[in-house]
Amino acid sequence: MTIFNQSCIPVPYDDEVLSSWMYRVREVFPDPEVRALYELDYEEALESPLMHAYNGGLSYEVDLDFDFDSQEVIEFVRVYDLSIDWVKSTFGLQNSHFIPLKFKTDYCLRCMDEAVTSIGFPVYLKSWRSIFSPFCIKHRCALRSTNMVLVNSIQFTMDVFEYAYQYPKHLEREDYWFTSTSNVQQLGIIVAERIKLLLLEATEAGIYDEVSSFLMALLRTVLAKDIFTVHPSVMKAEVQYSDGYRSKGPLTPFYQRPFLSTGMARGHAFYMVGLMLGWIDECEASKLQVDFDLYFPFSANCIWQRVANPNRLLIILEFHSTYLLNASMLSGRR
Ligand SMILES: [Zn+2]
Repeated sequence: MTIFNQSCIPVPYDDEVLSSWMYRVREVFPDPEVRALYELDYEEALESPLMHAYNGGLSYEVDLDFDFDSQEVIEFVRVYDLSIDWVKSTFGLQNSHFIPLKFKTDYCLRCMDEAVTSIGFPVYLKSWRSIFSPFCIKHRCALRSTNMVLVNSIQFTMDVFEYAYQYPKHLEREDYWFTSTSNVQQLGIIVAERIKLLLLEATEAGIYDEVSSFLMALLRTVLAKDIFTVHPSVMKAEVQYSDGYRSKGPLTPFYQRPFLSTGMARGHAFYMVGLMLGWIDECEASKLQVDFDLYFPFSANCIWQRVANPNRLLIILEFHSTYLLNASMLSGRR
């Protein structure tokens, strides 16, 4: 794109989400939107998504990271003279397994700090919205989870960054969690890297969906309350979200659980998934010094003993089995 050479539009940061970039563009180069507003008559201007954006409205509950058909994105693309195809190819995700906007809380503060040093703004990354990416692979750490409930999606990145430093106690508490659970997180990172490679390999039609459904079934299982027993004083396991989003039905909490879990909890879950798939050496696992959880599993068999309905889980896993990931790979099953 030549627009970046001809204007003040900042170049998107590697892996940046659209809302994060839109915020930066508006901050450094507001002229096109301001000019567009002047061209409208009063009534039109009041209804314009640009006006709502400047008043801090409209983007609430609109996912400006991925909803490229939303009115606000369409207007943004028009006034900055961008190509919607370019926006989709630059900011789109390859898969649909991303954390819904209402549960978007995870971030890596070190990545944000580096972006501030490099381009003067914190950024929010696409990979932090992926359900299968609970770690920052660059810094080899679990993602933090902000306590700030989403208010405005375009302002979110800056708000998260400012909130983090306004409430250092929260950061200190997270650092304590990171330290207490670091040995487990390191094994979880190995599993996350293997899953990432597996998903990259799943390019054939339908295979990606089967592999991700297989993984989601395992994640839901190990994050179920009768298996996932980490004490809340050690780890914040559930993301902060508005109570209005709490599911009322009997089944939805089970299906929602991976999306409601913090990056750190999903990192732990990846450790358990690694045990179930035989990817983690159980001798190595048994050497983990874990003093925060009396029921912490060191073997696949230990997890299977706590699965409420192992036969049902096996049926689901066999249904989603492919040559990349299948039920015969499972370790320690009864
Ligand atoms: Zn990072």
